[in-house]
Amino acid sequence: MKLPPFEYACPAALSEAVALLAAHNGEAKLIAGGQSLVPMLAFRLAAPALLVDLRKLPELRKIEISGNGLVLGSMVRWCDILADARLRVAHPLLTAAVDHVAHYQIRNRGTIGGSVAHADPAAEMPGIVLTCEAEIATVATAGPRVIRAADFFLGPLMTVLEPDEIIVDIRFPAWPPQRRWGFQEFARRRGDFAMAAAAVWYDQDAGGKARNAHVGVIGVGDRPQRLQQVEAVLNASAIDDATIAQAEAAASAAVDPQTDIHASADYRRALVGTMVERALKMSRNGGGKS
Ligand SMILES: Cc1cc2nc3c(=O)[nH]c(=O)nc-3n(C[C@H](O)[C@H](O)[C@H](O)COP(=O)(O)OP(=O)(O)OC[C@H]3O[C@@H](n4cnc5c(N)ncnc54)[C@H](O)[C@@H]3O)c2cc1C
Repeated sequence: MKLPPFEYACPAALSEAVALLAAHNGEAKLIAGGQSLVPMLAFRLAAPALLVDLRKLPELRKIEISGNGLVLGSMVRWCDILADARLRVAHPLLTAAVDHVAHYQIRNRGTIGGSVAHADPAAEMPGIVLTCEAEIATVATAGPRVIRAADFFLGPLMTVLEPDEIIVDIRFPAWPPQRRWGFQEFARRRGDFAMAAAAVWYDQDAGGKARNAHVGVIGVGDRPQRLQQVEAVLNASAIDDATIAQAEAAASAAVDPQTDIHASADYRRALVGTMVERALKMSRNGGGKS
């Protein structure tokens, strides 16, 4: 399918990219890996007058690991994350989720910033940034700002980003090595978008009870969701079979998915409970493959 016509710019400075977006007053779009935008153009779901390519901006490709956490530039690709052995230690939940993103070819171009900006409700990374309380640092004509992931997603393919705003990097809080976590996803084929997925993490007190539990799900609503009801089940409890059964039931009860061409609402409700159950069982082994 042919794309609609557009002008193309490939600025060598971030300020130039912002100025181009601002000058086009909502009629320009950024292109990062193009793995979501190009299909949108092909299907005429978007027809911007100008594409502003971010590929000549090396400052958007940084991967920084420090005691304060992890900073991933918006142009960091899925393959960059999977190839960096340090990240499996610095943020094992993040890398486990990226293992499920798309297929080989797409992972060579698709970027973390593009995924978060695109805000597909079934995409892994919006769910991970939400569950991990990451922050999204941006720049626009109005200046830089830092947006909490909890405030970022408004609905399917909708975020708080302004038309002239560019994600610069995504900041994840430090991940203690002893933290328990699990990630489970169900998709029709490996690499397809999730029918449902769950990310869980918690710390443990001296008695082995969970505290600071975080549970996030994707594919079962119009945006990624934290499930506070499930977190309440986990906090101050041992993650034993009884707690996991309670958490599974709470997860199914907490979501309100729609029936669509892929699955009924009831199926997805049951599935998300199973994903939470499996993620918690995985967490008992300290994460890793279940
Ligand atoms: C067949 C197929 C299967 C896929 N499967 C999955 C999957 O299982 N899971 C998954 O998560 N994704 C999947 N994807 C999507 C893929 O991961 C995309 O790469 C990703 O969602 C978007 O990243 P991108 O760099 O390609 O962004 P682009 O397509 O270039 O851009 C996407 C949107 O983000 C905006 N944007 C890009 N960068 C920025 C920035 N720095 N600041 C502000 N806005 C920006 C663009 O203007 C555009 O609106 C799949 C894609 C395909 C084609």
